[in-house]
Amino acid sequence: MEILRTIPEVRAARQAARGSIGLVPTMGYVHAGHMALVQAACAENDRCWATIFVNALQFGSRQDFSTYPRDVSRDLTVFKDAGVAAVFVPEADAMYAGDHSTYVHVEGLTDRLEGASRPGHFRGVTTVVCKLFNLVQPHRAYFGRKDAQQLRVIQRMVRDLNLPTDVVPVATVREPDGLALSSRNVHLKSAERAAATSLYRALQAAQQRYAAGERDAGALRAAMQDVLAREPLVKVDYVSIADDETLGELAAVAGPALASLAAVVGSTRLIDAMELGA
Ligand code: AMP
Repeated sequence: MEILRTIPEVRAARQAARGSIGLVPTMGYVHAGHMALVQAACAENDRCWATIFVNALQFGSRQDFSTYPRDVSRDLTVFKDAGVAAVFVPEADAMYAGDHSTYVHVEGLTDRLEGASRPGHFRGVTTVVCKLFNLVQPHRAYFGRKDAQQLRVIQRMVRDLNLPTDVVPVATVREPDGLALSSRNVHLKSAERAAATSLYRALQAAQQRYAAGERDAGALRAAMQDVLAREPLVKVDYVSIADDETLGELAAVAGPALASLAAVVGSTRLIDAMELGA
């Protein structure tokens, strides 16, 4: 497995690479969710490339950025064992020049949900993903459905800017009790870890009400709120029943819709999502 640390190294490795490349961008501290993306990328392309970069530009608070879990040497071992051909692990100053001043911003779609709670977050995500796509020029790039808004924002960026990369969504990987795998789960203390399953249970409650015929979005949101309200360690940021494409809040569900939520458990902010009817 090639380990690439500078932009000239990435460009040289890309020029030498033959066949199709499937890219898996990550912030590292890899878990089985990341590895589902890697498995899909390895299966569907001649080569799988991964990136590990904790992108300061997408973090609102310095604190969140500096406490984000990191273990690059373990990540590299796991990627190597999974058959990843090359990993790009840039230093921060390799990605952003001191006077960096160009950004990619997807309008509208980024105003709501995570965008409303974390101003500037998606500008950081789209800017770094666009840079990674330009450097690696992958045929396909793999993104998890857990980060449902991120997936839609990247699909929109690729469409609007005519980027020659297919965005491939991958199903959310969960713990046996339903908690979506996330690098941030490592911060959860034991009582918080137990309370964190309420995010999944809330989504399931909405899914069950939907399956039973409920189409009133307010009632579906209330079903999620009810589950979360029973957990004193969980502070709800938002619950949403939105149009699957625009992510605008719905009054009634008449077509493809997305249930999503964000909550702070102890001091750890977690998100999760589920497509209704899926
Ligand atoms: P991150 O390192 O958190 O930026 O995540 C890198 C990629 O892995 C993103 O496309 C995420 O959506 C995806 N991902 C994170 N957690 C999961 C999960 N539990 N299941 C599937 N994909 C995931």
